[in-house]
Amino acid sequence: MARKPMMAGNWKMNNTIGEAVVLAQNISNNYDDRWEDQVDVAVCPPYVDLKPVKTVFEFDRVPCAVGAQNVFWEPSGAYTGEISVPMLAEIGCAWCIVGHSERRIYFGETNEDVNKKARALLDGGINPIVCVGESLAVRDEGTTIEFVCAQVRAAFAGIAPEQARRAVVAYEPIWAIGTGRTATPEQAQEVCSAIRGQLGEMFGAEAAEAMRVLYGGSMNVGNAALLLAEPDIDGGLIGGASLQADSFVALVQACL
Ligand code: PEP
Repeated sequence: MARKPMMAGNWKMNNTIGEAVVLAQNISNNYDDRWEDQVDVAVCPPYVDLKPVKTVFEFDRVPCAVGAQNVFWEPSGAYTGEISVPMLAEIGCAWCIVGHSERRIYFGETNEDVNKKARALLDGGINPIVCVGESLAVRDEGTTIEFVCAQVRAAFAGIAPEQARRAVVAYEPIWAIGTGRTATPEQAQEVCSAIRGQLGEMFGAEAAEAMRVLYGGSMNVGNAALLLAEPDIDGGLIGGASLQADSFVALVQACL
């Protein structure tokens, strides 16, 4: 089954509202008619930028979705500083990243938290981008596949196959994020294929074939083509290279 590729930008904690609007406008100015049918494009700015960025894309009628970088699983209540799924849904977020390694490392996000977030998002009509990936220590130990598959099992525990299909998994080796050291296409393919195998065990082969697995970790215009040519890599989750319109648009074009 042919899967529609996806290119998503993770802006992390970058861009004030003014900067975000300029970047969104620059992406929108370079929009290609083929995006609509041939690739899912999304940017994930900081919370405060979501509505202004969404407004730019809506005004320009550009098929570029917005996503959040995190969410809390409760719908409302005394959770100071948190943002809920209904809040993101009202803005029109189509996507939300969960389990990014920076959240796991700096904010103590556990596999159980990732699962609660993914479930709340799916129940609330937002598609999760579930991030998994090993540290250099795990890779050196030779246990990458077991480690990543355990993260996938935990993230998707208790989720029904018809809901799981809406999620995307992003394989992001921690040692490749923001380091300029990309996984080789063979390394990335090996893990993305194992992720698909794990999804198949949980949700059946047909669902696993339909689900998208992205690669993230220093993906750029120079290395994207070879990564995207691998059979189990269906697109990218892009950090640094998504902060400039020209490099992000070039990565989207690489999916066409
Ligand atoms: C990320 O943080 O999701 C990421 C892939 O970052 P970078 O592209 O900068 O390595």
